[in-house]
This record gives sequence, C-alpha cells and structure tokens, in this order.
Amino acid sequence: MMSNKLLKSMVVFNVKNISSRSFKNLPDFTKNTFNVERGFYNYFQEPHLRFFQNLLGNERVVTDLIDLEKHNVDWYLQFRGSSDVVLKPKTTEEVSKILEFCNGNKLAVCPQGGNTGASGGSVPVFDEIIISMEMMNEIINIDEDSGTVTCQSGVILESLDKAVAEKGFVVPLDLGAKGSCHIGGNVATNAGGMRLIRYGNLHGNILGLEVVKANGEVLNLLKPMKKDNTGFHLKNLFIGSEGTLGIITKVILQCPPRPRSQHVAFLGLQKYDKVLKTFKKARSDLGEILSAVEVMDHATIEFAHEYVQTVSPIGDYPFYLLIETSGSSDEHDEHKVHAFVESALNQHFVLNGTVASDHTKVRGLWELREKVPVGFKKCGWVGLFDVSLPIKHYYTMVDETRSFLKNRVDSVFGFGHLGDGNLHLNAVSKKYDETLKTSLEKFVAVKTTEFGGSVSAEHGVGFLKRRYLPMANSPGAFHLMTDVKKLLDPNRILNPYKIFP
Ligand SMILES: Cc1cc2nc3c(=O)[nH]c(=O)nc-3n(C[C@H](O)[C@H](O)[C@H](O)COP(=O)(O)OP(=O)(O)OC[C@H]3O[C@@H](n4cnc5c(N)ncnc54)[C@H](O)[C@@H]3O)c2cc1C
Repeated sequence: MMSNKLLKSMVVFNVKNISSRSFKNLPDFTKNTFNVERGFYNYFQEPHLRFFQNLLGNERVVTDLIDLEKHNVDWYLQFRGSSDVVLKPKTTEEVSKILEFCNGNKLAVCPQGGNTGASGGSVPVFDEIIISMEMMNEIINIDEDSGTVTCQSGVILESLDKAVAEKGFVVPLDLGAKGSCHIGGNVATNAGGMRLIRYGNLHGNILGLEVVKANGEVLNLLKPMKKDNTGFHLKNLFIGSEGTLGIITKVILQCPPRPRSQHVAFLGLQKYDKVLKTFKKARSDLGEILSAVEVMDHATIEFAHEYVQTVSPIGDYPFYLLIETSGSSDEHDEHKVHAFVESALNQHFVLNGTVASDHTKVRGLWELREKVPVGFKKCGWVGLFDVSLPIKHYYTMVDETRSFLKNRVDSVFGFGHLGDGNLHLNAVSKKYDETLKTSLEKFVAVKTTEFGGSVSAEHGVGFLKRRYLPMANSPGAFHLMTDVKKLLDPNRILNPYKIFP
C-alpha cells in the first residue's frame, strides 16, 4: 500500500479547481451545495493510474476532462462530483482486481450504470473513482425453455428487451429511462417502473446475481431457480443496495412470454375520487390483462406541454389516467378495454377518453407520460419527490403540498404509478431557494410518514435522502443495515456518502 506522504506529494489531476460556470447549465459541486466533509480516503495519484492502465489499457481509463464531465454529473443536473478518473472494466475479473486494489489503497469508488438515477447515487460526491459498467454489456444466454436471460450487468434495459423479444419474451420491467439505464442499475436501485402492477418487483424476477465485494471477492449467487430455500436469499441483499454493498456484475432475470396484444386507454376525469373508482373498476373489469395504471394531474400535462411540447389528445381535464392492457388475444382484449371505457363513461367516472391499439398510437399515448421527466432538465429548480402512499391519501399529498407552498413556487404537480401507490410529487420554480427546499423536504418526509407511506418508493435513497434512512426504518432495522455495511465493506470504499447519513 502507498504511504499517505507519497500520495499527497503526487497530485497530478485537478478538475477540482474548475468552476462550474465554465460548463453551461451544470450544477455546482455537490460537496459545496450540501457542505459535505470528505471521508478519510486517499487521493487518486499517478501510481494508481499506472496500475489501472496496466490492467485495462489506456482506452478504458478515462481522464479527459470533457469525457469525465458526463460521468460526474447526474441525468437531472442536480448533483456533480469531481472524479479524476472513470474505469471501464469488461469482465468480472477486472472488476475484482479494481476493487481489491482500491480497498487495499483506501480509494473510494462510485459504481455507475446508465447514470439515470434520480437520487444522486450514481455520481461521486468528491473524487471517488467512477467504475462505469457500460462495457460489461454481453447477453450471455437466453434459455427458451425457462424464459430466463443471463447477462452482464451493463446491458441497457431496452437492448435486453429487444434481445428477449426475438425469442418471444418480455423484460418484466419498463421505465422511461430504458434507452440508457442498465439492468445492473435497475437491480441496484430496485427500480419499479410502469409494469410493476403486472409483473411484481425485482425481488421476484431476479433469480440470480454475481456480485464483487469491496475486497474483490467474487460472490456467485447465480442460481437460475425460481424456488431455492437453501439458506438466506442473499441476492435480495444486493437488490436496492445502490452500489454500497458490492458491484453487481451478472444478472439472471426471469422473463414472461411477450404479450401479443396491447391496448392503451387515455382518460380524462374530474376528481380524484373518480380516479380511484376508475382504478378499482379497471382492476376488476380488466383483471389479468391489466398491465399499467398511470395517473397525471392537469398541472403535469401543462408542465409537459410547456417543456416537452406534448399535447393531450382529449383536451383539458383535472386528471388523466393511462391504462394499459397486455394479453395474448387481440380481439378479446380489445373488446374488454372498449367495454370497460364505455361502462366507466356511463357511470360518469370518466368524462372523455380515447383507446389506441396501433403500435404508433400506443407509443404516442405513452410519450405523454414518459416525457414528463425530460422537462425537469429545462425548467429551473425542481423539488422531486418519489413517495409511496396508501392510495386514499395519494392526491391529498399533492393538495397539502400546494397549501404548504402557496405561491412560493411556480407549480406543484403529481403523477405516477397509481397502481403501486407511487406518487412523483414535484415543485418547480425558476429560482432556487435553499430555505424553501429544506422546509419542503421536511414537510414531505413528515407528511408521508404521517400517511403511513415511504419517502422512497422506487428511486432509492442515494445521496438525496440519506438523512431520512433512520427515520424511515425502525432502530433495529437501521442498526442491522449499518452492521451489514460494516461486514461487507469495512473500509467504506463503496459509494460513500450514499444511503447512510
Ligand atoms: C426519464 C427517466 C424515467 C425514469 N423512470 C423511472 C421509473 O419509472 N421507475 C424507477 O424506478 N426509476 C425511474 N428512473 C430512475 C432510474 O432510471 C432508475 O433508478 C434506474 O434503475 C437507474 O439505472 P442506471 O443504470 O441508470 O443506474 P445509475 O443511475 O447509474 O445508478 C443508480 C445507483 O445504482 C448503483 N449502480 C449502478 N450500477 C450498478 C452495479 N452494476 N452494481 C452496483 N451498483 C450499481 C449506482 O452506484 C447508484 O447508486 C427514471 C429516470 C429517468 C431519467
């Protein structure tokens, strides 16, 4: 191991002094914005660089400032680190050697997938070495008998879905970020997405994982069995661990048969109680073919119209529901969807609606929902909250946030995966106000807890919500989490400043 004295005398890379103003639209450095203290890690130096270049070759050790920037800044332009290097391993063995070396030299690392994470977990806070999984993108095997796919963790979600589609399967997970996010990032965040109501969460669909521990040891949890009760389900420990317990290198995913028919109803409604009634009706009338239930309020549609130029095809309503069905018989499903919409109109639950079956029109309706987050990059400051709530309190949360903020922001709106009680609550303002932001975060955390919900439904804790971890868990659960972290990563090199306060 190198001595600290030697390390300090060899500072060769210095992006730290470059002002954020030299890059257009970039956030300030996270360490400044949030006043964070650097941990007792060693600094990245020339001898470390030489080790990594020997291991990976110069091409896969990125130190160019412009190339580094896209790995240092998150998708939502809210967090910015100042790492001097991005490593791009291609194999598990390379990840293992990198971690063994970093652990031995007390160098902190930040595992990175597609960098679409919404809680600031995917970018460094200081100068953590970024380990990008983008070159670990091999699909190893698709087993057509069992419908399981085995792949490296850096495969892009959409590419994985295309590959399994050729064999008649579907990836049981769908997010707006599918063109960029990795399956490994999805596992690390326990991503939810649009189809959770149909296929359940990743704890059920991930059958096996390969994980590299902080000390470089490769943990083989790659059993492709749906049923396996031989001891603790260790793979579940890494689902949602956000890069703090190990680096996921391989994944075995169970994929159901690909639906042959798909229909989307886009409905306009007057009040939230009608939204609830329509949702219950959809569950009962559409039953086994129901595959997504998304809600958006009027302010969401207005926001999307302003920033991403989408237009509601049915005019203006206080609420909108997007209801998707997926099944195996087009005729049967079409009949069911039309009967459901007609009946909801007759019962005055719904004021207006349209149904699409054609692929292009289905995509067009989905874009109304999927493009909303794209507006966040263009609108000034946005307070993003991803909470889950008992659905009777779902929209009360938006109303109460509006009352709390009054005219201190430009707009408050709510949309999300209603079927899972998952609300994306947002407050946008042209200007950033630190005091307002802090009081809003506290308000949302307290209210969500009062309603019996969770402050992180699907986006994880990351850097953003780390101070809520103790509040969101019982003292016993919180202490067990810290014990697990100590056991698996005693030097705390894996994604520091994330999850734990
Ligand atoms: C437009 C848009 C829509 C979105 N919609 C949804 C949605 O519907 N549902 C939802 O849940 N999320 C959604 N997200 C958030 C995000 O896409 C998910 O959290 C996604 O799972 C992150 O995957 P990623 O590969 O981009 O991971 P990253 O953002 O790179 O990383 C996220 C976290 O996982 C860790 N990590 C990444 N890869 C690994 C690995 N191989 N091993 C260990 N740790 C790793 C990182 O350290 C970090 O803590 C959306 C984001 C955007 C931009």
